[in-house]
Amino acid sequence: MTARSEGKEVSATFEEREEDRRALLKKIVKEVETTSAQTGRKTLAPRLLAALAKVRREAFVRESEAALAYVDTALPIGHGQTISQPFIVAIMTELLDLGPDEAVLEIGTGSGYQAAVLAELARKVYSVEIVPALAERAQITLAAEGYHNIEIRCGDGGTGWPEHAPYDAVIVTAATPEIPRALIHQLKPNGRMIVPIGPRYGMQQLLLVRKDAAGNLTQRGILSVVFVPLRTAV
Ligand code: SAH
Repeated sequence: MTARSEGKEVSATFEEREEDRRALLKKIVKEVETTSAQTGRKTLAPRLLAALAKVRREAFVRESEAALAYVDTALPIGHGQTISQPFIVAIMTELLDLGPDEAVLEIGTGSGYQAAVLAELARKVYSVEIVPALAERAQITLAAEGYHNIEIRCGDGGTGWPEHAPYDAVIVTAATPEIPRALIHQLKPNGRMIVPIGPRYGMQQLLLVRKDAAGNLTQRGILSVVFVPLRTAV
């Protein structure tokens, strides 16, 4: 947490942040246990736990929000958008079952935090963001944090990123009434997709979609969630 002295903000020490990060991790692990009947996961993969322990969420939030970086909540990142709640990032990533040789497509880069977590687990992350200023800022943050396996494109993610398709996994971090067709096409056989489905405002349902080896889709509702809407290109 951040302390104040003589009206000036004094940044928390590295050790204090470490403590906050550990406490948040504990909370996430507990929440995974509590929701296991719905999600089908009682624990998080050790690789994911290590990723969540490593990624410095404070680097992805605005300075004014730094003290809240390790609270399990979504936070504003400007342009009417938010960085997702850490538990939601954790469970969405868990359900993708990413292998170290896999390529993943993210729709909605936002702060870049989810992309960083994915980049710890997968070979390559392709992420699409529709707001130019956010795409630019995420690019800078991710470079500063030392990520070299993330590519960001500014544009409408509803059309996916055909040049690098197909993907082993697709994660959509904005709500959509239905799954954009292009994203289904760009998913490999045996691929996994996680996407919040529902109205633009209000509750949505996190959906886990699998494409089998023959290309058939199966889907399962996971949890009720609240995401900002996926914008459609005008
Ligand atoms: N994954 C982000 C949180 C995303 S919030 C993080 O870790 O911080 C959802 C993001 O989706 C916002 O940044 C929003 O601008 C973006 N978005 C909305 N519609 C989009 C679209 N059609 N294509 C790409 N990005 C979109």
